[in-house]
Amino acid sequence: FHANYAPFKDEKGEKAGIVMVIQDITERQKLDNMRKEFVANVSHELKTPLTSIKSYTETLLDGALDDKEITKHFLGVVKSEADRMDRLVRDLLQLSRLDYKREHWNKKETNIVKLTEDSVLKMRINAKNKNQTLSFKGEERVICFIDPDKIEQVIINILSNAIKYTPENGEIKVLVEKDEFRGIIRIIDNGMGIPEKDIPRLFERFYRVDKARSRELGGTGLGLSIAQQIVKAHEGEINIKSKEGEGTEVIIKLPLKEKEV
Ligand code: ADP
Repeated sequence: FHANYAPFKDEKGEKAGIVMVIQDITERQKLDNMRKEFVANVSHELKTPLTSIKSYTETLLDGALDDKEITKHFLGVVKSEADRMDRLVRDLLQLSRLDYKREHWNKKETNIVKLTEDSVLKMRINAKNKNQTLSFKGEERVICFIDPDKIEQVIINILSNAIKYTPENGEIKVLVEKDEFRGIIRIIDNGMGIPEKDIPRLFERFYRVDKARSRELGGTGLGLSIAQQIVKAHEGEINIKSKEGEGTEVIIKLPLKEKEV
């Protein structure tokens, strides 16, 4: 709480009392803390790869350059750290476009069954590299009015999480169905799952269950917040059900094109 007070006088100029304004500043403080935390996170996420780029380049300049094999290895590290910074900055720019409603939407009638199946095909190689089975099942046609590129981005993001956080030989299932009003995309894995206490916070920027593991796997910690903003911009919703050690299900719901309803 924040309190402000001022004395007031009666018509004779005598002190008559004080006026006190008590403000609930918890909301404001919460926002302020979130902003500070965000800046701290961004700085840290950029600083880590930058430090690594600097030290590898310095070692090269100090003489490691004479060894061709070492040079190749070091430049490989520099490139991958630069790629990480690139991903992070791209994600931040997209979040900022979404925040300021400056994202450009190209919405059209789209069969989300075909869109999802195409996204699954694009990720097949990633699943194969981990010896995982990736299956797809869908109805014939489910038509939604969406920006196909953006929704594809969401599906690919969720699928790549499913692949990343599921061990070798795991199983990932993708289903597309519809109810009376909505097209529904389900992405189900039997991977490591998410502890119950973390589930409500997953859509927060930079929130990760295991920071080290996410970084190691190339994640920025922004994927789910971006996915949620994109889905919300379509008047849809995205939910996560999960059990630690058993697996995770992500459910994306998008309104059907009116004629279909
Ligand atoms: P990241 O770039 O870290 O993957 P996301 O915003 O996409 O960031 O996801 C946030 C966190 O949610 C991840 O760091 C991970 O801990 C958890 N997570 C997301 N998807 C899954 C999944 N399918 N299985 C287990 N954990 C997941």
